[in-house]
Amino acid sequence: MLLGAPGSGKGTQAELLARTLGVPAISTGEMLRLAVTEGTSLGERVKGTMAAGALVDDELMAEVVRARLGSADALSGFLLDGYPRTKQQAFTLDELLEEQGRRLSSVVLLEVPESVLVKRALARRREDDVESIVLERLRVFRDKTEPLVEHYGRRGLLRKVDGNREIGEVTAGILQALGK
Ligand code: AMP
Repeated sequence: MLLGAPGSGKGTQAELLARTLGVPAISTGEMLRLAVTEGTSLGERVKGTMAAGALVDDELMAEVVRARLGSADALSGFLLDGYPRTKQQAFTLDELLEEQGRRLSSVVLLEVPESVLVKRALARRREDDVESIVLERLRVFRDKTEPLVEHYGRRGLLRKVDGNREIGEVTAGILQALGK
């Protein structure tokens, strides 16, 4: 699982690592954005929340992730990007994996200074990346997601990687942290 603030490079790294490791990158943000673009009922339900930079509720996310983790290509392993984002989601993930007789092997924390995060996010200019929303997403990360660092640290799963480097160097750093 990749853990990091918005703009820390999780999505980019998940794509690159998935290719190297031969497992699917599961990005809940991508899945939700696709649902919004396609105008599905899920998309309709999450559109406003995403536009505001807030988090979609834990129960809805549990449904989304349960379905995705159960699909054939994820059975031999996966890379999670953007889930879990709250303590409740972390518990749900444990439950879902336990039901399937498996568990999380590692959590990689991508560390990037806040000033760099803001710069990156504004340069990326996605629809939900206007400055006030960028700052809101960072605030939500600090408030709801950052507590997971301690949670996974206590469980001995956390690997910290300097994410403020060239893309390739970060990928190499992650693979090294994973012992690959
Ligand atoms: P991301 O691309 O991971 O930054 O996700 C974009 C947006 O999708 C977030 O700002 C949330 O609104 C929503 N989202 C993605 N993953 C989650 C999650 N695990 N829990 C709640 N909301 C999520």
